[in-house]
Amino acid sequence: MSVTQQQVLDSLSRIKSPRGVALTNANVLSAISASDGKVFFSINVDAAEARAWESVRAEAEAAVRAIPGVTTAMVALTAERKPGAAPPPPPTPSRGTPGVQPVHAHKPPQGGASPMARQSEIPGVAAVIAVASGKGGVGKSTTALNLALGLRDLGFKVGLLDADIYGPSVPRLTGLREKPALNDERKMIPLRRFGLAIMSIGFLVEEETAMIWRGPMVMSAVTQMLRDVEWGELDVLVVDMPPGTGDAQLTLAQNVPLKGAVIVSTPQDLSLIDARRGLAMFRKVNVPVLGIVENMSYFQCPHCGTKSDIFGHGGARHEAEKLGVPFLGEIPLHMAIRATSDAGNPVVDSEPAGPHAAIYRAIAGQVRDQLKGVIAAA
Ligand code: ADP
Repeated sequence: MSVTQQQVLDSLSRIKSPRGVALTNANVLSAISASDGKVFFSINVDAAEARAWESVRAEAEAAVRAIPGVTTAMVALTAERKPGAAPPPPPTPSRGTPGVQPVHAHKPPQGGASPMARQSEIPGVAAVIAVASGKGGVGKSTTALNLALGLRDLGFKVGLLDADIYGPSVPRLTGLREKPALNDERKMIPLRRFGLAIMSIGFLVEEETAMIWRGPMVMSAVTQMLRDVEWGELDVLVVDMPPGTGDAQLTLAQNVPLKGAVIVSTPQDLSLIDARRGLAMFRKVNVPVLGIVENMSYFQCPHCGTKSDIFGHGGARHEAEKLGVPFLGEIPLHMAIRATSDAGNPVVDSEPAGPHAAIYRAIAGQVRDQLKGVIAAA
């Protein structure tokens, strides 16, 4: 039985906002996504009122879940702080499915102070770094996972957060499918594979559903995966960002306490333009760009090993020099990388003595050098 938006609205109209009006008349609802029995939407409120809204969020989620035919209901509470307003009180933990906490979308402060200064670190995690790309399909997720494994091989304790909410690929890249269990504090316990602590929005929702999430919901879900997960002690948490440089990415870059960002690009000019946008985005929010990786840099024949520069290899190195950011390395377009990735056995783990693993480890070494002073040499 399919659930319609109207059914969702009908059930929400019976819930009162803290000011007494029906939730559907309070002018706080995002677009409602309802497909295949899965319902997602967000309630967008002023940060000063966020606490009063948490019970409404829980009530709305319960009401939607009670509609016949609904299999999953996720209601995010997003709270925007007005410029200059005092920070809201800390949210109370919610019950039920991993609860969504209020999210505070900061405006970058005037005068050049880092918005990161206002963010709380994740307890136990020394450095959170982002792997980003200007557009999809450039191999960002493959690079993020193999970079995480390269850092593991250098002796660090590493986690991987797949925040690519528009198309989470970590379940495919790792072969992991289970739902994370909850600990006594109702925090999600990350799945473990290849010696990494791994969390993905794909463990919680179906891939197709994740495609239709909107900006504030992305932020809410990502915050939940950062804060409501028992990450334990980590040297580095690698975040596989959603592709692109739109509002959702900017908000994410502002809200996640990032120590740096790695930008993945293919050599084609177009994606370099996109990579430049990525660079500008991180600079805007004062996140240091650790460097650019050129993926699918040259074609390496799986039979004879001959290299061909079919895409005009070297563009990213040149671009990095021009932009004054480190060039972290080039990864060939190679069948072994694609086949191992798509089979859930990333090349750094499945062929550790091979040439590709060495390339990813060298990139990891450069990232470690860039993070000197943040993570201790292992
Ligand atoms: P993105 O995260 O940018 O969308 P993915 O990491 O999912 O990209 O990669 C897209 C596709 O390209 C996948 O099938 C992946 O296996 C393949 N791929 C990524 N990097 C390489 C590479 N260096 N050589 C061959 N195939 C690659």
